[in-house]
Amino acid sequence: MINVKENISLKAHNTFGLDVRARLVALLHQPEDLMPLLEHYRDVPVLFLGEGSNVLFLEDFDGLVILNRLEGGIEILDRNRESIHITVSGGMHWHDVVRYAVEQDWQGIESLALIPGKAGTAPFQNIGAYGNELADVLTACYAIDTRTGRNLRLRKEECGFGYRNSLFKREPGRYFIHRLELRLYPGRRPQVRYRALENYLTERGIKHPAIQDVFRAVIDIRLSKLPDPAVTGNAGSFFKNPVIDRRHYEELKQRYPDLPAYPAGNERVKVPAGWLIDRAGWKGFREGDAGVHPKQALVLVNYGQATGFQIYKLAQRIMADVFDRYGIELEPEVRIIRNATKQ
Ligand SMILES: Cc1cc2nc3c(=O)[nH]c(=O)nc-3n(C[C@H](O)[C@H](O)[C@H](O)COP(=O)(O)OP(=O)(O)OC[C@H]3O[C@@H](n4cnc5c(N)ncnc54)[C@H](O)[C@@H]3O)c2cc1C
Repeated sequence: MINVKENISLKAHNTFGLDVRARLVALLHQPEDLMPLLEHYRDVPVLFLGEGSNVLFLEDFDGLVILNRLEGGIEILDRNRESIHITVSGGMHWHDVVRYAVEQDWQGIESLALIPGKAGTAPFQNIGAYGNELADVLTACYAIDTRTGRNLRLRKEECGFGYRNSLFKREPGRYFIHRLELRLYPGRRPQVRYRALENYLTERGIKHPAIQDVFRAVIDIRLSKLPDPAVTGNAGSFFKNPVIDRRHYEELKQRYPDLPAYPAGNERVKVPAGWLIDRAGWKGFREGDAGVHPKQALVLVNYGQATGFQIYKLAQRIMADVFDRYGIELEPEVRIIRNATKQ
């Protein structure tokens, strides 16, 4: 049985830097150890945690936190003239996977550089950035279904991916993801589909970028725009970009001619939540130690001593204001974790 510790601070295990405590904490190194652990703590609420970069704890967690410390790295499954098929241990830092692929000149994930978190968590919300998402390259996930104890290989089509969404996110706690399969493209040139990235490269005279150019550009842009959680607590984008009906968008466009929008299929458009929040005047807002980042309105921050409730209260005020102004309901991208007994 793996060692389980009691009454542990989670401050180092969530990027908001909230000093909440967990009743029990276990480090999981091998997927085979999961079910015996869960059977032993059958009546205890459980939370899987990677690097805590997409969670907001409202209070102490009165249950068992299982920290993903899975061992293993990257292995090649097969390769042909066009592509390479690899498996990735869920315990790797996602950025290390990206860096390795870029070093090998394997195209496909270079624009997902510097996204914090474990590889095993990446499918949970189908991580994405700069016009790409994990689902573009993922071919399968290995996950343990904690209801049955079965180890499943779920093909991409079975993972229910959507925009920052998946089967795993729709049923949090049911599946524990421990390995990914990705298909990447040795030597292929990247396609840049994101305006800010395109501008960055053009300004530097890079017309036909290699994946290393895209990798470095993404890192540069992210470092200049996003707060470093090691300095200022945050969980990246706090809200998802809302998708609204085209008619609703046209109405808003009358009032806000510069409202950006991206086609989302079926007469729907995606609008940037950051723009809505910024335009509503929240950028740089601060109350106590909870605030909205001065450079990026989508990022809520903990300047030091904020509690999860204070950050959550701020998020709710923003949501109410955005609804009053634009008739749009924002949805948190970050998972809100309450005291386990109240879940
Ligand atoms: C500065 C910053 C920038 C960010 N930028 C981006 C971005 O550009 N794009 C993007 O998509 N995200 C971004 N994020 C969010 C975050 O990095 C991703 O969501 C990441 O995948 C979370 O990984 P994690 O290991 O930290 O997950 P955690 O926060 O530990 O967990 C997140 C959720 O996944 C569940 N979970 C954890 N491990 C597993 C597992 N093995 N199996 C099943 N469920 C599990 C948890 O229970 C929790 O509900 C950013 C975050 C920060 C702090």
